[in-house]
Amino acid sequence: MTGTGTESNPFENALKQLRLACDAMGIDNDIYNYLKHPTRTVQVAIPIKMDDGHLEVFEGFRVLHSAARGPGKGGMRYSLAVNMDEVKALAMWMTWKTACVGIPYGGAKGGVRVDPRKLSVAELERLTRRFTANIINVIGPETDIPAPDMNTGPREMGWMMDTYSMQKGHVVHGVVTGKPVEIGGSLGRTQATGHGVAYIANEYAKRQGWNPAECTMVIQGFGNVGQYAALTARDFGYKILAVSDISGGYYKPEGLDVDEIFAYISDPAHRTLEGYENAQKITNEELLALECDILAPCALENQITDANAEKLRCKAMVEGANGPTTPIADEILQKRGIDVVPDILANAGGVTCSYFEWIQDRMALFWDLEQVNKELDKIMLRAFNGVYELVVEKKISYRMAAYFVAVKRVAKAIEMRGIYP
Ligand code: NAD
Repeated sequence: MTGTGTESNPFENALKQLRLACDAMGIDNDIYNYLKHPTRTVQVAIPIKMDDGHLEVFEGFRVLHSAARGPGKGGMRYSLAVNMDEVKALAMWMTWKTACVGIPYGGAKGGVRVDPRKLSVAELERLTRRFTANIINVIGPETDIPAPDMNTGPREMGWMMDTYSMQKGHVVHGVVTGKPVEIGGSLGRTQATGHGVAYIANEYAKRQGWNPAECTMVIQGFGNVGQYAALTARDFGYKILAVSDISGGYYKPEGLDVDEIFAYISDPAHRTLEGYENAQKITNEELLALECDILAPCALENQITDANAEKLRCKAMVEGANGPTTPIADEILQKRGIDVVPDILANAGGVTCSYFEWIQDRMALFWDLEQVNKELDKIMLRAFNGVYELVVEKKISYRMAAYFVAVKRVAKAIEMRGIYP
């Protein structure tokens, strides 16, 4: 397991980041106190009849961190590591992410503590439907809009949309995003997060005066985010030296054949990269320490910690995953002169495209892929430029600059709305 450091509670890490940002900005302590508490936390039991007839009960969570700037927005994660603190952290990061890119949402997140690989498709469907039914009063197109995250995708979003619609008695497309295109999904949503990671990496590289044709990239995690980050970065001209997933790392100094490795993972017979032979097998730890221009952690949180931050040999890091770098590791990297373009900016392409899906659902008018990508790149560029200007003007890190933009917007919304009653 990668990155075992001293700071392993993501919510404590999220609070530290907020504290640092509020202190640096001179934000009122009342606002910090307001923001450190999630608005709503829900935990539910999800009893499921398994295929062999026995009953299992899973734990499900949905947290709305803030609705100050709009309805809650955030993914649903299926993993054995899901717990309330993780979901609270992820919900808070969503608040900063939607504010950082300037889309009219708050932040939320959810998940079920389950190893989805151990469930049949029918069991997964029952789990998703019962979970949706149990949280039906706290989700909705005007209140809190789930989306895919680790181990969930269009299929699960389709089940959620259908369950919600059945309960309401009419079709409610806008209750979730990341749905299949046939039932109100948006073109480009599957690729959007990874595309955005590569797009932001490329904007960063341009500001450094780097030539994409000479840039190398290493990607940890080869799921939805990692795969499309690799494909888009390759299209920009980057050499992808290595990728990894739960089965380990795959390294080729001359550059991986990204299409080939994408085809390998897309083959239903291969659930992981295990068995991919056209690359040297390395460990995840070795992968993180490879010399490269840009390292993109796109797997899960707490991967770059005080235990391995000194070993990194990238020139910069662009965070595709949420919370992959702990606060101490962040400090170490800053001291070492390694820029970290933070998650709340770098992986915001997914939620931005989710925003487009929600708009299209509400208008019942659908865009072509060209329009989706044009609008996506416009918002990502505007967000990157806003952060970059602060980095240059205030001589602060990318993370601090992104928090400046985000926390200020949320604080302003709270101030303008006032405290009810
Ligand atoms: P995914 O489930 O599709 O992929 C996760 C990948 O990480 C898989 O390749 C898995 O094998 C790998 N992985 C898991 N544990 C690992 C480990 N210990 N070491 C190395 N690799 C490991 O998930 P995803 O949707 O690609 O999400 C990845 C990250 O990006 C998460 O932090 C998620 O919150 C974040 N994110 C996702 C989206 C989205 O739209 N999917 C949007 C924003 C942020």
